[in-house]
Amino acid sequence: MTATLLYEGKAKRVFETDKNDEVIISFKDDATAFNGLKKDSFTDKGRVNLAFTKYFFNLLESGGIKTHIISFIDEISLKAKKVSIVPLEVVVRNLAAGSLCKRLGFEKGMVMEPPLCEYYLKNDALNDPILCKEHIKYMNTVNEQELACIEEQALKINEILRAHMDSKNITLVDFKLEFGKTSTGEIILADEISPDTCRFWKKGTMESLDKDVYREGKGDLVDSYKVLADILGIKL
Ligand code: UDP
Repeated sequence: MTATLLYEGKAKRVFETDKNDEVIISFKDDATAFNGLKKDSFTDKGRVNLAFTKYFFNLLESGGIKTHIISFIDEISLKAKKVSIVPLEVVVRNLAAGSLCKRLGFEKGMVMEPPLCEYYLKNDALNDPILCKEHIKYMNTVNEQELACIEEQALKINEILRAHMDSKNITLVDFKLEFGKTSTGEIILADEISPDTCRFWKKGTMESLDKDVYREGKGDLVDSYKVLADILGIKL
């Protein structure tokens, strides 16, 4: 029997299971950038990104962060709690890069201390616009208390990831998170954490081991991800 596809995104597919509150998420080999304007497929990318997600989510779970993961099924799929995804992309920045530099003219690599937490509306048709907290108040998505909980978790996640990557001689520049609401109203970390969703620089340099390699056409995307996996001791 083939599982029913509930949702297909740019890099993942979500399937129904025989349990109402569980889904299977399968990682695709596709990469997109610039809101889907640039699009390619890379052999092995789904498998590699799932391996990173497993690594980072396990690290965060041991640091006390609740996530949607139930179990890892095979090389490209995992079982997760079915959540209602909060339509916000939560970005945390330790150093200025990407859209922040483009928009505000900040110098690339400028230290953001304290780390900056930003919100973007998850809406491709509107080009994922940046939001201030006041905008979110008018959207029927999360209340003030829930938003505070998201921000607290995002900053805690940053501390865990940043310290860990630092110990591996990698600078965590910035990353994007997505949160989901469970049937009981709890807000937990969802989606993925991989070099598709983070910027990683070799410490003391601006050499990317992340999707900027693809965005900027600087080399083979999956090769760079594999270099990072090797540094972190992730077996692929
Ligand atoms: N990011 C992401 N998905 C998006 C937009 C951004 O995973 O749809 C990640 C991106 O990889 C980076 C961080 O969020 O690690 C900040 O991205 P930025 O706002 O600089 O946007 P970009 O110029 O990278 O699109």
